[in-house]
Amino acid sequence: MKKQTKAIRTQTKKTQYREHSTPLFLTSSFTFESAEQGKALFEETEEGNIYSRFSNPSVQEFIDKVCLLEDCEDGVATATGMAAVFASMAALLKSGDHILASRALFGSAHQIITQIISKWGITYTYLDADASEADWEAAVTPDTRMVYLETPSNPGLDLVDLEMIGKLCKKHNLIFNVDNCFASPALQNPVDFGADLVVHSATKYMDGQGRVLGGIVVGKEEYIKHIRFFCRHTGPSMSPFNAWVLSKSLETLELRMEKHCSNALALASALEKHPDVKLVKYPFLASHPQHELAKAQMKAGGAIVTIELEGGFERVSAFMDALEIASLSSNLGDTRTIVTNPFTTTHAKLKADEKLALGITEGLIRISVGLEDIEDLIEDFTNAVEVSVKSDILE
Ligand SMILES: *Cc1c(COP(=O)(O)O)cnc(C)c1O
Repeated sequence: MKKQTKAIRTQTKKTQYREHSTPLFLTSSFTFESAEQGKALFEETEEGNIYSRFSNPSVQEFIDKVCLLEDCEDGVATATGMAAVFASMAALLKSGDHILASRALFGSAHQIITQIISKWGITYTYLDADASEADWEAAVTPDTRMVYLETPSNPGLDLVDLEMIGKLCKKHNLIFNVDNCFASPALQNPVDFGADLVVHSATKYMDGQGRVLGGIVVGKEEYIKHIRFFCRHTGPSMSPFNAWVLSKSLETLELRMEKHCSNALALASALEKHPDVKLVKYPFLASHPQHELAKAQMKAGGAIVTIELEGGFERVSAFMDALEIASLSSNLGDTRTIVTNPFTTTHAKLKADEKLALGITEGLIRISVGLEDIEDLIEDFTNAVEVSVKSDILE
């Protein structure tokens, strides 16, 4: 069976009620059949659920599905994507270790690396999106223990060559940790390129409908066991309710991603032809500087498109306010199209030079392309571009 079939058919064991859809195990704890069993469960001579901070059938079902989709041995689900990112670092790094990371990271991942784990003596080096193999090689120190990256990045849509980093990590015995949120397991499987750990914000495409928060780390058992220990005792556990929602959503992930990607490509192509849009970036447009790499490591271009408008925040503001269908929100990965101006919102706290290094200009707009009819979307965006041009800002 193909993994998509297996993932769709993966479900908690049928109860005596013979339900078809998976039940929700909304329980904080589990009972012991005897005092002896309680002892055995705690001694780990018997496997089973004890308490939902440690494990829960609804949460395990979600983990099992993601493991299938990412071709990973094991995983730990967390309350949010950031809890997964943090746990993957805190459980495996110690004082004195060094982490190598791509500069283009989700804002909170940047804060964890530069403000939180740095307090515990974990140092870091950032590499730019266009860093060569030699640059990465030169940045490895005897203390380097992990490489952490996102590809495609948020919001720059820069790619990192997963195969190149996979080889580097193997050569230097480094833990290769990838945030695969933007691509989702439907478009890219980092383990195919040697990743040891894959983290996700399940809040985005895994839910895909803007309802619940969640996160997960999947990967090699030798690392996951330390992350499980860390989460069991520090408590960033995923709620069984959220797991139940997310698990069902995974059954339509591939289908949703196909439509997200075809809509995104069509919208990007239409806006690229528009004379009043300065720049359009999308990994599966031939104009993307890393288009060849995108085709080599992704099945499709994803659902995020960025555009740049001339005329500063006033123009951006006129454009965003003229949109009739797309929502203005800082989230992404929803059935509904969402538009964000990273400069003034998600990335507002970065210093001017940091914004510059990441290509976050005032006129940059991140579009999380949803599942609406593509003709309606093209019309909405084209109309908003035209209204914003007429708004006499450019004169
Ligand atoms: C949203 C996001 C996160 C954080 O996930 P939360 O579920 O909001 O904690 C991490 N990485 C990327 C790429 C994201 O888009």
